[in-house]
Amino acid sequence: MKINTNLATLPAGYLFAEIAKRVKEYAAKNPDADILRLGIGDVTRPLVPAVVDALKKAADEMGTPEGFHGYGPDFGYDFLINAIIDADYTPRGVKIDFDEVFVSDGAKSDVGNLQELFGADASIAVTDPVYPVYVDSNAMAGRLGQYVNGKWTKLTYLPCNAENGFVPPLPDKRVDVVYLCYPNNPTGTVLTKAQLKKFVDWALENDALIVYDAAYKAFITDPEIPLSIYEIPGAKQCAMECCSFSKTAGFTGTRCAYTIVPKELVFDGVSLNRIWGRRQATKFNGVSYPIQRAAAAVYSPEGMKQNQANIDYYHANAKVIREGLQSAGIRVFGGVHAPYIWMKTPNNMPSWDFFDLLLTQAHVVGTPGEGFGPAGEGYFRLTAFNTLEKTKEAVNRIIRIL
Ligand code: PLP
Repeated sequence: MKINTNLATLPAGYLFAEIAKRVKEYAAKNPDADILRLGIGDVTRPLVPAVVDALKKAADEMGTPEGFHGYGPDFGYDFLINAIIDADYTPRGVKIDFDEVFVSDGAKSDVGNLQELFGADASIAVTDPVYPVYVDSNAMAGRLGQYVNGKWTKLTYLPCNAENGFVPPLPDKRVDVVYLCYPNNPTGTVLTKAQLKKFVDWALENDALIVYDAAYKAFITDPEIPLSIYEIPGAKQCAMECCSFSKTAGFTGTRCAYTIVPKELVFDGVSLNRIWGRRQATKFNGVSYPIQRAAAAVYSPEGMKQNQANIDYYHANAKVIREGLQSAGIRVFGGVHAPYIWMKTPNNMPSWDFFDLLLTQAHVVGTPGEGFGPAGEGYFRLTAFNTLEKTKEAVNRIIRIL
């Protein structure tokens, strides 16, 4: 059997494994250390009552002859698709058709799978630092060349740093696909409509596709910041958009998401909506009925109110981190429209050295920026997903050692 050597030779999933290893070793040697974790990208607030009620009700239905549901519609139940369109798009003046919404079990699977739409030699650009799934999924398909000194030889990197205000430059050469994630993981920054429009215009001129990951859109607090790329004219001709209930409503363990593939998206005479539908219908058998009912309850008036309270809770944590570090003279970015705070390491310290310093001196765990790409070196990510008490304690400890 000839194996996929692209997959076999992929660099190990080094970042979180390495973090876990260092924390484990330190904890074993220092059993009394009370280690606080501000590295996690997972939510901690429980599912809200409106969602739990819908989940239980749907589970009960499944145990009755009338309410039982077997395989569902390939792309999601009508009640969820309509709720998504009515709540997430119509109020923003965006027209999305029913058959442009594809419900799935996660934005991670969607952003990983959708590279199957691209030709084997399609050229790819990502912002740097970046959510690693965009890079690794294309590397597995053999599109990125060789991994040399921490960089893929055929991948175009769009560096985002304090100097350019974390606004990615346009690619300096034509590429087929650009991945954009806003609000951004890991930097916590956002793009204005004008900044995003430059990418849309560029993609239209260059016959390129934008994959827009809006997994953190629930954290946007300024009505002027786009919640969807389709708020930009022309985006339906050049962009797919991936959204998720994970961070919006605590579905990281429950699993539900959706991707928008507009019918206007046509490359080489082929409709991406048609071929994505063909791909999903072949390889994916849908999200379970109770989970889709639970997701639809996110859009009920109670669900919206209850989930907003959770988002507010994480926002309050982010503020504690941001303002605490700023008071200690640290340069911080993000954390206003996102659960992530991206900080400059003191004196440009290498991000893994800063990781070790925080772990050993403050017993606080964060994520070294370098793990998200070469332009992440000299930066460090903290997350707002812990409890308020632990977040305050962690920030106090960081300030003390600095
Ligand atoms: N996209 C980004 C940018 C993320 O950071 C994450 C999770 O951390 C995901 C997608 C995954 O979303 P899901 O839980 O829907 O798979």
